[in-house]
Amino acid sequence: MLTVREALDFMLDAARPVIDSEIVPTLCANGRVLVAPQASTIAVPSADNTHMDGYAVRAADCASGQARLTVSQRIPAGHVGVRLEPGCAARIFTGAMIPEGADAVVMQEQCEAHEDGTVTIRHAPASGEWIRRAGEDITAGAVILPAGTRLRSQELGLAASVGLAALPVVRKLRVAVFFTGDELTMPGEAPGGQLAPGAIYNSNRFTLRALLENLGCTITDFGIVPDTLEATRTTLRSAARDNDLIITSGGVSVGEEDHIKPAVEAEGRLNMWQIAVKPGKPLAFGEVRREGGDAFFLGLPGNPVSSFITFLLFVRPFILRLQGAPVQPPRGFAMRADFDWSRPDRRNEFLRARINAEGGLDLFPNQSSGVLTSTVWGDGLIDNPPNQAIARGDSVRFIPFSELLH
Ligand code: AMP
Ligand code: MG
Repeated sequence: MLTVREALDFMLDAARPVIDSEIVPTLCANGRVLVAPQASTIAVPSADNTHMDGYAVRAADCASGQARLTVSQRIPAGHVGVRLEPGCAARIFTGAMIPEGADAVVMQEQCEAHEDGTVTIRHAPASGEWIRRAGEDITAGAVILPAGTRLRSQELGLAASVGLAALPVVRKLRVAVFFTGDELTMPGEAPGGQLAPGAIYNSNRFTLRALLENLGCTITDFGIVPDTLEATRTTLRSAARDNDLIITSGGVSVGEEDHIKPAVEAEGRLNMWQIAVKPGKPLAFGEVRREGGDAFFLGLPGNPVSSFITFLLFVRPFILRLQGAPVQPPRGFAMRADFDWSRPDRRNEFLRARINAEGGLDLFPNQSSGVLTSTVWGDGLIDNPPNQAIARGDSVRFIPFSELLH
């Protein structure tokens, strides 16, 4: 059996990142991956401006802590004032440019305006007080986002803040999916609204598609494929045609009803791995022939929790690599176990757990690979090494789902 690390390293080494790129409007670039570093042509802020509503002054005029100054101008945000003369103050509003001559802002709570057009400044500001300096966030020419950055809301805001209206990104990864199993029924399609005896709903289709959508992939869905070698081979050929990657669920064991292995071997190449991980032991990784190259192939186990966790541990980093994004191991946090786990598996277990009000971890009572409830109840996974029993109070490595789903 391979360790999680060994299997993942093998996959990442085999990955050929997509190199085609396109320019997209920044407004439509959520989730995309930058192909080139982005630099700012401007400084941010572009000029010294005030952090507060108040009065812009010459600090030297206010040294007494009780200065009475003439209000010579009013500068709202977006307007430009004139030079501030000695003995004068400018009424100023957050974000407005500091007028030449002024070197401090006094917040309005420390000032008293009078009917005669003067103001008393009851504070002796330091030079520079409440002034946001030009370039204090970003200097002109600075790289703000390196190549390979996956663009989230924060990155899009930053790009827009320096005026970038369009961004060069990796073209979307094209992923084909299909779901093996004669027992599968689509929600809403059970004959007469009744699930037939022995049938189950195709939940993996929903989980996997949402995971792929969140990674910015274009999905071609071939739906449910019957458990025959011929149907599996035919679908593989169609799926390979225009796609970078094919992902399937189910049929990866080596039973008579499991056709993924012989089908992929006939249409390309396959590594069938037994990985020392629970849930999710079998994983198929290979390639399916098509004109002009091969499509990568990843066959996930059918059990819904296995399929979900295998995606998080293997498929997600593989997709990030294909997209040219950096692949970092998920961050784990040392947390206290508020439960006992006395019969650990020989494999590396990923246990569904939840953070409790005392700052420790509770374990979902049923860790079976078919129990999807655990994935909704949990906040993340405990990465438990092989043969490691856990006693109440022990420190364990907890990986929040947020580390694996972003
Ligand atoms: P398999 O990997 O095909 O042997 O399936 C293992 C288990 O997962 C069986 O109980 C299947 O019924 C179940 N399963 C397979 N495919 C799906 C699916 N798409 N959605 C939900 N459960 C599935
Ligand atoms: Mg099956």
